[in-house]
Amino acid sequence: MPTRSGPPDAARLDKIVAEARRASDERAKTYRERALKLFPWICGRCAREFDRTNVHQLTVHHRDHNHDNNPPDGSNWELLCVYCHDNEHSRELEAAAQRTSDEGDRAPNATHRPFADLAKLLKGGGSRDT
Ligand SMILES: [Zn+2]
Ligand SMILES: [Zn+2]
Repeated sequence: MPTRSGPPDAARLDKIVAEARRASDERAKTYRERALKLFPWICGRCAREFDRTNVHQLTVHHRDHNHDNNPPDGSNWELLCVYCHDNEHSRELEAAAQRTSDEGDRAPNATHRPFADLAKLLKGGGSRDT
């Protein structure tokens, strides 16, 4: 990324803005879609299979926990069901609690917890993975 040292040149700025917008657009709305196209709809932990009726319970986990790291080949993604994803992150909760303020003021679609409420709802049944 170039540093902005000189006076901004309109055409160049336009291009940068367009590219940035496209990149953030792609990142925000499509990494899940892309992951769902790349991988079979199976949880990487419990091997539960999903179809259109319940694919909303399948979430994208970032292997390195960096949600900005979304390589097109999907090498940083892992499809996990909400239960396993919850598990995967719950051991990080203590550590994460110390940096929540960092996450707190981001745009809603940039956070990594779109499934948090869903997981809570689904947990009502009390079923357990073994
Ligand atoms: Zn699972
Ligand atoms: Zn995750």
